[in-house]
Amino acid sequence: MAARPGRAAAEPPASPATRDDLVAGPAIREKLAKLGIVSKLDLALHLPLRYEDETKLTPLAEAVPGEPVLVEAVVVECEVKYRPRRTLVVKLTDGASDLWVRFLNFYPSQVKQMEPGRRLRLYGEVRPGFFGAEMVHPKVRVVSEGAPLPHSLTPVYPTTAGLTQANLRGFIEHALDTLLLDDTLEPALLKRLALGPFRESVLLLHRPPPDADPVRLEERTHPAWRRLKFDELLAQQFAMRLAYRERRGKAAPRMAEKHTLTSALVKSLPFPLTRAQKKAWATIAHDLGQPHPMRRLLQGDVGSGKTLVAALAALQAVENDFQVALMAPTEILAEQHYLKLAHWLEPLGVKVTWLSGSLKARAKKNAIEAIGRGETRLAIGTHALFQGDVAFHRLGLAIVDEQHRFGVAQRLALASKGAEPHQLMMSATPIPRTLSMSYYADLDVSVIDELPPGRTPVVTKLVDESRRDEVVARVRESCREGAQAYWVCPLIEESETLQLKTALETFETLKTTFPDLAVGLVHGRLKPDEKAEVMAAFKAKRVQLLVATTVIEVGVDVPNASLMVIEHAERMGLAQLHQLRGRVGRGTAKSLAILLYHRPLSDTARARLKIIYENTDGFEIARQDLLLRGPGEYLGARQSGAPLLRFADLERDADLIELARATADEMIAARSHAVERHLDRWLGQRQFYLKA
Ligand code: ADP
Ligand code: MG
Repeated sequence: MAARPGRAAAEPPASPATRDDLVAGPAIREKLAKLGIVSKLDLALHLPLRYEDETKLTPLAEAVPGEPVLVEAVVVECEVKYRPRRTLVVKLTDGASDLWVRFLNFYPSQVKQMEPGRRLRLYGEVRPGFFGAEMVHPKVRVVSEGAPLPHSLTPVYPTTAGLTQANLRGFIEHALDTLLLDDTLEPALLKRLALGPFRESVLLLHRPPPDADPVRLEERTHPAWRRLKFDELLAQQFAMRLAYRERRGKAAPRMAEKHTLTSALVKSLPFPLTRAQKKAWATIAHDLGQPHPMRRLLQGDVGSGKTLVAALAALQAVENDFQVALMAPTEILAEQHYLKLAHWLEPLGVKVTWLSGSLKARAKKNAIEAIGRGETRLAIGTHALFQGDVAFHRLGLAIVDEQHRFGVAQRLALASKGAEPHQLMMSATPIPRTLSMSYYADLDVSVIDELPPGRTPVVTKLVDESRRDEVVARVRESCREGAQAYWVCPLIEESETLQLKTALETFETLKTTFPDLAVGLVHGRLKPDEKAEVMAAFKAKRVQLLVATTVIEVGVDVPNASLMVIEHAERMGLAQLHQLRGRVGRGTAKSLAILLYHRPLSDTARARLKIIYENTDGFEIARQDLLLRGPGEYLGARQSGAPLLRFADLERDADLIELARATADEMIAARSHAVERHLDRWLGQRQFYLKA
């Protein structure tokens, strides 16, 4: 690992635990590994799901039905009954009241354990039964009279088949007794952050005192939980921010702001930049002038005008005699970018080339040669841009649209094409702030938080499939009045063949339904030139109703289209629905999105439709989506490099994320020794550095 600012020369950090210090046989190790436990430290950080209060005894007569309690009683009778089914029935008394206990599954050893005269402690719920108070399958322990009660709540851990609570508890107790669990953070810092010490926090969570607040423990809002969550988030921030710093130590081409081509583009536009576009552009322009590689994520809601900002960035590179590559995840999106950027840039004398995997051999050869000679200033394409046979003459900036759709391999291929080109990543799907502050903390982030003026918000309607006729009438009427519409086919995730079949069928049906309209079809299996033709026809208003699969989800830009029908909207994810809906409402006409749904609706589908109906702001939709699904799907390819957070919750612990970010930057800047130690404790072998 190169140049870690936190490391002092001679002093190796004291490792709180090595990774192979688990003393257990192979079978147990395997089971523990299933729980993600490979070291003693992992055991100490394997935290309880909930607790059982066995610290006090409840007289039988005082047990409240439905509340688990610990009772103590002496066995009076113990009998195995065979009717109606094999059951172990035990009668006990605590002197004042009787208790009947039943076990449906039991071992002979248990029968022995419950011989008359034995004193038992039973943990479970007491319920009124046929003969009197009753317990079914309580937790049982044989005790002698006056045996001491535990001093802390009994933890219940997440476990796996073949590993009992008692087993697991034993391992964890041993780990807690033998590990140092010393603090990685200075007392003064903890005081300032109002956080408790590490060791005490860990111990408290495993062995809470009887008066600990069970709700705050189980809801993970207890101060001890906060300390652990903070530590976890701090480790994440350290790793990401160190990667960030490491990158800033590298050299990249400096591209000064010359304001020749960039200003020319701004002047040629029929509209002014929005305030938010100006701000994002100013930041990027500054970044490009720096001698180290930019890694900036440009975020903005659908239609906020990210492409224009990307175009300006490209021109600054071109002004400085560098080449630019723009990579998009699909052919159709790459082509849209090509059309738009060629339209803006070629009048300024900047050669823009489209390189698609499916170009005819000759055209492809020409494109590659133009890129190789440096004649092409801006090359646009899918990942075909970074395949072996493409060599850039002087690549200075790579723009990646829809960055989350690209995997690590593609990003590395990209990096290998220029010494260290600057990178501008764009995200069509807004990323909630907490997510960009945590998992994206190795990047700089700019947000375009404003839409160009004059847009009328899209009205969304949820319509039951049974009212399809009304929808058809609406489409007919709108198209007659000169509007254009999209009709989005149902999504069939399981099979691409079925998806295609459905698209073709929908197309045929709609042609019959609308005999007087020009209906077009675009889907993922069309050849690029066929696709281009359909899109061009739609743009030129030769097609009024465009039947489409979700290939139009991203980037497609036809401002005159003001109506969209989405079939089987209940099958689609929120990001997808928001993206689709963003295809309309791009012009000044009032736009409408009709979401057709089929009953019955699952709870999630219902929740999603409600969110999309009630919200138009992509960031808010993203936030709610995060709540609904967790961060996994947002991270896409990024996830493979970054361990998910175990303890912290992006939504609920947003304040801790901010605190961790500020603390991490401060400690790294101060070259604190604690950085290394803390990373070691929390990430150990799993330590990761994202290469973005
Ligand atoms: P997205 O952020 O979703 O990629 P686009 O870059 O496709 O958005 O922009 C959406 C539309 O808005 C395009 O037609 C674009 O030309 C137009 N646009 C961009 N910036 C402005 C602006 N400042 N004023 C008016 N229209 C703009
Ligand atoms: Mg876009």
